[in-house]
Amino acid sequence: MSFADLGLVPGLARAVADKGYATPTPIQRAAIPAVLAGRDVLAAAQTGTGKTAAFVLPLLQRLGAPAGAAPRALVLTPTRELAAQVAESAARYARHGALRTAVIFGGVSERPQIETLRSGCDLLVATPGRLLDLQAQGVLDLGQVRCCVLDEADRMLDMGFIHDIRRILKLLPRERQNLMFSATYSSAIRELAARLLREPLVIEVAGRNVTAERIDQCVYRVPQAHKRHLLRHLIECGSWHQVLVFTRTKHGANRLTQQLQACGIQAAAIHGNKSQGARTRALSDFKERRITALIATEVAARGLDIRELPHVVNFELPHVAEDYVHRIGRTARAGSSGVAVSLVAPEEAAQLRDIEKLLGRPLPTASLPRYSVPAGESRPAPRREIRARA
Ligand code: AMP
Repeated sequence: MSFADLGLVPGLARAVADKGYATPTPIQRAAIPAVLAGRDVLAAAQTGTGKTAAFVLPLLQRLGAPAGAAPRALVLTPTRELAAQVAESAARYARHGALRTAVIFGGVSERPQIETLRSGCDLLVATPGRLLDLQAQGVLDLGQVRCCVLDEADRMLDMGFIHDIRRILKLLPRERQNLMFSATYSSAIRELAARLLREPLVIEVAGRNVTAERIDQCVYRVPQAHKRHLLRHLIECGSWHQVLVFTRTKHGANRLTQQLQACGIQAAAIHGNKSQGARTRALSDFKERRITALIATEVAARGLDIRELPHVVNFELPHVAEDYVHRIGRTARAGSSGVAVSLVAPEEAAQLRDIEKLLGRPLPTASLPRYSVPAGESRPAPRREIRARA
């Protein structure tokens, strides 16, 4: 099956071919014809499934030709990075037509965004806060929006955007198409979907909460204080050249970044306390392989699309088991294979149990390699872990 078989016009099919995609992914096969037909959609899909093209392509087709200054399609995303990424995809897919795409998000000057809005756009990608700011200033007219997409809706709720979302939805015309993408289905998501969507097509790809087959996963049982030494050893001895490391806190991300840098490993942190400039720089340095390790908190890493990312490390396990699936989904994207390593301290046993329950299987425990520990710190003897299972 090709993209043209899904009903896409030649200009869009050509833009997809320009990107090198020959075959639609499962979510694209399901969503594109439905969105083209004007249906509401509720899709359980994570980053990495091709979900962006699944809604951007049919939306562009439905928009047809440019019309007026006010946006007619609106995509809401939880983070600036995801907004930028979706907007970049949209601009690429729109390249053989005249439709105008734009993006607005916080953390950077409003002025260029106001200019962009004044000059007009057909599809607008936005984070909720900046959207409401600019709307309140009277520089953004939401009265023409005919289609609204909530991308990574679960993360928007996790980040406390529910009130902003409600306010935004009230500013939109009642008659419109709604699409909702979410990696997980909590009761809050189901509630929002029930209120927002009309007879939606429900799509689930590759079974939610099921990790990609191609991801090699393992666990190292290691005391918290030794995790940084083990990580250094894994990076250096494994010749890892690109590793995304998740920490629980922003402070922890900063500290680990400094510790790795002190060992001569090129590293940068990405989290909500960093300026937008620093976040963008860290991400591009990482993508261009100028740095080896990107140390991220959950929220900042959400939606990051890094091609063929070979290694993901959970420096600490997430508190919500489903976030594990989401984190490790950063590797083995779109056809490549990857490795996901979790460093688990004894106090994280309960989180590990929750993750294994969600996956429906235990994660293999790897034996600890002989990593070095500076004088004054003791290290446990390497041993094979034998774990009792219920
Ligand atoms: P997304 O889930 O939208 O974040 O996309 C994940 C990655 O898959 C991105 O790098 C896309 O450019 C890529 N991608 C999207 N559609 C396809 C396709 N049909 N074939 C191969 N790769 C794709």
